[in-house]
Amino acid sequence: LNRRLAEFGTTIFAEMSALALSTGSINLGQGFPDTDGPEVIREAAVRALRDGRGNQYPPGPGIPELRTAIAAHQERRYGLTYAPDTEVLVTAGATEAIAATLLALLEPGDEVIALEPYYDSYAACIAMAGGTRVPVTLRPHEETRDGVVHRRFRLDLDELRDAVTDNTRLLLINTPHNPTGTVLTRAELTAIAELAVERDLLVVTDEVYEHLVFGEAEHIPLATLPGMRGRTVTIGSAGKSFSFTGWKVGWVTASPELVTAVRSAKQFLTYVSSGPFQYAVAEALALPDTYFQAFGADMLAKRDLLSAGLTEAGFKVFQPAGTYFVTTDIRPLGENDGFAFCRALPERAGVVAIPNAVFYDHREAGAPFVRFAFCKKTSVLEEAVSRLKTLA
Ligand code: PMP
Ligand code: GLN
Repeated sequence: LNRRLAEFGTTIFAEMSALALSTGSINLGQGFPDTDGPEVIREAAVRALRDGRGNQYPPGPGIPELRTAIAAHQERRYGLTYAPDTEVLVTAGATEAIAATLLALLEPGDEVIALEPYYDSYAACIAMAGGTRVPVTLRPHEETRDGVVHRRFRLDLDELRDAVTDNTRLLLINTPHNPTGTVLTRAELTAIAELAVERDLLVVTDEVYEHLVFGEAEHIPLATLPGMRGRTVTIGSAGKSFSFTGWKVGWVTASPELVTAVRSAKQFLTYVSSGPFQYAVAEALALPDTYFQAFGADMLAKRDLLSAGLTEAGFKVFQPAGTYFVTTDIRPLGENDGFAFCRALPERAGVVAIPNAVFYDHREAGAPFVRFAFCKKTSVLEEAVSRLKTLA
């Protein structure tokens, strides 16, 4: 293994899912739903396969039907207009979108500012592109309003500003944020946008959890902010929005120049992405808003169930405003090492979780935090909670 990749080893998701299997534990580690997406969309994939649509190499940028559907979805939901032919690119999941974007845009030595904790592929892709990651840490914050404690990980705008140097090439943003569940506010996004304009930076924004936003939180695409449309690469995924993580259909929307750049890298990574699923995802993106509302409401109920259960079990819970993950602080349980805690958890309670420290360069800042996924059946979450209550 070369020096660029040597530090990465096996992804925590593979390690923890293997541990769940070998110990027969409930897997609240890797983020994948245990209920597949809509049946009509599965049927659409079967029809495409049977009718011979997409069984041979589809067009490099993605089939026109899907590119048109992605553009229509961005316009309908956010008022963002993208030309399907020049400003949309279909990728093999958001994972390839991230890789192709970073490989296309970075020169060796370029600095990339990423919000820490960051999704693990960011660090590896920055490294493969020869870039240098500069983490800006989201800080745990707690306040009481109307007698209710609100906790979130928030962006320190001064830290972000101070992280920019003459070598900074791009900001890599993720909202709603994995693993903390933070949804960046308009004020935070405005500050990011102003900084990007002032320092003439590109912004890559991973918005795969755009449809998983709860309560009063609102998903605001960075590309909608002043000065951002032309300098922003936005990334989405059917895996997250339609509960088909195995299909690996993702996409990029950006200016023609940026999409052309990303496509240059993509054509030599996978060349094209899987054909029949593209036809099905085109139909999924056109589902009525009632689908997205029902999906969000279902996940909201699951969030509340797991958050309440974890609180009862003695964890300090950061109630997420978005995503299907809840980050907890394990110190009230008398623990402070999330790695050790997660390695022992299958044996102690028959549950698998993810230590947030793997998403940090400043490992000590992430040490006491542990992430649980709630994209699971209610009965599974209830059983997990009852097992976790035995820890206290
Ligand atoms: N970005 C984030 C923040 C994610 O959590 C994930 C996967 N869970 C991805 C990207 C990758 O998405 P995909 O499965 O579409 O490759
Ligand atoms: N994104 C999912 C998570 O955060 C897992 C993706 C993966 O296994 N690489 O859990």
